[in-house]
Amino acid sequence: VEPTSCLLVDEAFAAESYLLRDPSSAKHLNGKVLLVTGSADGGGSMLGAALLAARAAVKTGAGYVCASLPDGQAAVMHSFAPEVVVIGRDMISIIEKAKWADAIVIGCGIGRSDEAQELVETLLCTPEIAGKKLVLDADALYAIAERDLFDRVSSLEDAVLTPHAGECSRLSGLSVEDIMLSPIDTARMLAEEWNVNLLLKGMPTFIASPSGMVLISNSGTEALASAGTGDVLSGMIGALAAKGLDSHEAAAAAAWLHGRAGDLASNVSSLVSSVDVLQAIPQAVLELFES
Ligand code: AMP
Ligand code: MG
Repeated sequence: VEPTSCLLVDEAFAAESYLLRDPSSAKHLNGKVLLVTGSADGGGSMLGAALLAARAAVKTGAGYVCASLPDGQAAVMHSFAPEVVVIGRDMISIIEKAKWADAIVIGCGIGRSDEAQELVETLLCTPEIAGKKLVLDADALYAIAERDLFDRVSSLEDAVLTPHAGECSRLSGLSVEDIMLSPIDTARMLAEEWNVNLLLKGMPTFIASPSGMVLISNSGTEALASAGTGDVLSGMIGALAAKGLDSHEAAAAAAWLHGRAGDLASNVSSLVSSVDVLQAIPQAVLELFES
């Protein structure tokens, strides 16, 4: 493995990657993100994950954000994020919006039910979705492992999988210890094997491309080690991909900005929640352009 195929992501990388809005642009030109996220089953609701990811996409600068939610959940989304358009969970609505979207985030909080797994399998088998820039996180990763959807993943156009070490272990069959022992080699090997971008979360975070290029982001601290921060990251990647970056660069720039937003949030208070992190995103972005 060539040592030159590793690169540290820093503020300059994020600044070069972040696409500022054209002064004459309109919302549909600034990145359209579709999220298929959240659940509200009898067993418990994970709508918060959908709210966090959608709100993070907005705060990262996407021009238009749309969320597919289970029936009856629009009011919850709108009380927290009135700027997000809500559609149903049926395939007809999802496919119609998928055609419109520039990037699609799948998995945060959809749960592990058979229904949720079936949804992920159907989405990955749908050409209108498989051809888009995709962010596959959380329960989508569970479904991929459970249903052995790696052939599907390999045939995607431009996707990123965003596992933490535990999710990576389930996906790969490797132990968490082995993954932590050689995260760069692991991320690179799996990205090549599955022909997909792989963002392996942690400190630092490694973002491997199918061709073996590994970007490393070491922004952020343990302030990010709380529930929901991963959902915020997924929304951020979706926004940067929708704004025009390929999934690899979007994932790396988002990882850096996510860490920086965590730093900014923890300067205000050491007790940081994922909502604080998403609220700090605009400041993290604006700082990139202060000279
Ligand atoms: P998740 O486990 O999916 O909620 O994602 C957690 C997010 O927080 C990932 O982006 C991690 O890289 C980040 N994170 C968690 N713990 C730490 C830590 N100790 N230092 C830096 N980043 C962290
Ligand atoms: Mg997560």
